[in-house]
Amino acid sequence: MKDEISTFDLFIDGQFIKPAAQQYIQVKNPANGEVIATVASGTEADVDAAVAAAKRAKQSWKQLGAAGRSDILFRIGECILENEARLAHIETIDSGKPIVETLEDIRAIADQFKYFAGVIRSESGTYTKQDGEHMTLISREPYGVVGQIIPWNFPFLLAGWKLAPALAAGNCVVIKPAELTPLSLLELADLTKGILPPGVLNIVTGRGSVVGEHLVQHPDVQKIAFTGSTAVGKRISKSAADSVIPLSMELGGKSANIIFPDAPMAKAIEGATMGILYGQGQVCNAGSRLFVHQSIYDETVAALVAHFKKVKVGDPLDEATRMGTLISEAQLEVVSNYVETGIAEGAKLAYGGKRMLEAPFDKGYYFEPTLFTHVTNEMRIAQEEIFGPVLVVIPFDSDEDVIKMANDSEYGLAGACWTRDIYKGLKIAAAIETGLFWINEYHLAPSGTPFGGFKKSGYGRDNDKSALEAYSQIKTIYISLSDTPV
Ligand code: NAD
Repeated sequence: MKDEISTFDLFIDGQFIKPAAQQYIQVKNPANGEVIATVASGTEADVDAAVAAAKRAKQSWKQLGAAGRSDILFRIGECILENEARLAHIETIDSGKPIVETLEDIRAIADQFKYFAGVIRSESGTYTKQDGEHMTLISREPYGVVGQIIPWNFPFLLAGWKLAPALAAGNCVVIKPAELTPLSLLELADLTKGILPPGVLNIVTGRGSVVGEHLVQHPDVQKIAFTGSTAVGKRISKSAADSVIPLSMELGGKSANIIFPDAPMAKAIEGATMGILYGQGQVCNAGSRLFVHQSIYDETVAALVAHFKKVKVGDPLDEATRMGTLISEAQLEVVSNYVETGIAEGAKLAYGGKRMLEAPFDKGYYFEPTLFTHVTNEMRIAQEEIFGPVLVVIPFDSDEDVIKMANDSEYGLAGACWTRDIYKGLKIAAAIETGLFWINEYHLAPSGTPFGGFKKSGYGRDNDKSALEAYSQIKTIYISLSDTPV
C-alpha cells in the first residue's frame, strides 16, 4: 500500500481544481508527524464556485428520481467496499485511529449508502381527498444545496452519515472536512467521480473560520448539517438564524456508563474499557463517566486497571493495535491539562496520565489509557468533554442516586448500563436524558438506528431514515376537481 498521497486540489463540479488563492495546507500523520499530503486551503471564492456548481446540478439530480439516485448510491456503496483497504489505510495514517477501527468505519459507510439506496425507493408521498371536490397531494422535496461540516474524529464515517441521506433525498452537497483529516473524503470523490454526476458532490477543504463560516452564510445554501464542538455549533446556529435556514447539529457529550452489581462483569469491564479507549476517547459518545455501584467499586477498579494494562497501544496500521494516537499536539495538550486539573481537584490517578514519550511512541501523539478514582460528579473532569482516553470512575449507592448524577450534565448524547436485570436496564434507559442508550453494549450504531443527542449535544438524527426528513421539506399541492366557480 503506498503512503505518498501528494497534493489534493478542491473537488468542484466533478473535477479537482486549483484553489483560487493557490494556497495549500499540510496534512500530517499523527503517529509520526510526517507530512503525508498537502490539500487546498479554500477561500470564499472557492466556496462560491462549489455552491454555484451544486446549484447548477440540483435540478437534474432531483429529476433523476428515487430509482436513479438509488442506483447511484448503491454503486457508491459497492465502490467503497471494493476500495476498503485503501480507504482504511488513508483514514488511519490521517487520523491515528487503529486500522481495525477505520476498516469498520469504511464498511459502515458502504452499508450506509446501500441503506439509503433502499430507503429512498420505499419513500412515497400521500394523497388526501377532502370532500369529493378537493384533494391534496403531499410530497417531500429536496432543499437544493446543502452545506455539511465535518470534524476530525470520524472523518469518513461522519461524512458518509451526512452525504448518503442528503444525496438520497435529492440534494447537491458542498462539504467541508476538518483541516486535520480531509484525505479519505477526497479519495472518495476521486473514486466516485465516474459514478456521481458533476456538481452533486463538491468538497472545499480549508479553515473552519474561512470555508466553514462562508458556507454557513452563503445565500444559496438552504440547509446546514454540522458535527463538531458545541462552541462552534453555537456560532453556526447564530449565522443560520440570520439566513433563516434549518440546521442539524451533532455536538459534544459526556456520557454515563453504569455498572450494576448484577452486570455480566467480564463484558462490562470490556465495555467500560473500549467505551472510553475506542478512538483514543476522541469520540462524541465515549463512555467517559463510569458509575460503579459502591458494593463492587474496589474490585471493578482493580479489574479495569488490569484491563487498561492489556490494551495494546501502538502503530495504528498494526492490526493488533487497539489504541492509536491522539489527533494533534494541541489535543495532547488539552488532554494533559485535564489530567492536571483532575489531580488539582483531588482525583487520584489509578492508571496512566501521561504522554508516551519513549520509542517507538516518541514521534507521535500517544497518550496513556488513563483512569481516575476519587472523582465526584461536580469536578470539571466529570462535567467537561476531555476528548481523550481519560475515564473517571464515580461510585453510586442507589438507582435514584445514579440517575440524578448521570442527568446532572449539560450534555445528553449517550449512555449505557450493565445489568442482567432487563427491567432495571429499561427503567434506567428511560430515566437517563440522552438520545442514545445501550444495555449491556457500547458504541453499537448500525445503519437504520437514529444517532443524535438531547440537551447541549445537539438536535437532528443521523444514521436512519429520519435523516431523509431532515434533508427534505414538505410540499402540499391542493387540487380542485370542480370547474364550477365558488
Ligand atoms: P470543531 O467544532 O472545532 O470543528 C468541526 C468542524 O467545524 C471542522 O471542519 C472545522 O473546520 C469547522 N469549523 C470550525 N470553526 C468554524 C466556524 N466558525 N464556522 C464553520 N465551521 C467551522 O470540532 P472538532 O474539534 O473538529 O471535533 C471535535 C468535536 O466534535 C467534539 O466536541 C465532539 O464531541 C464533536 N463530535 C460530535 C459528534 C456527534 O455526533 N454528536 C460526532 C463527532 C464529534
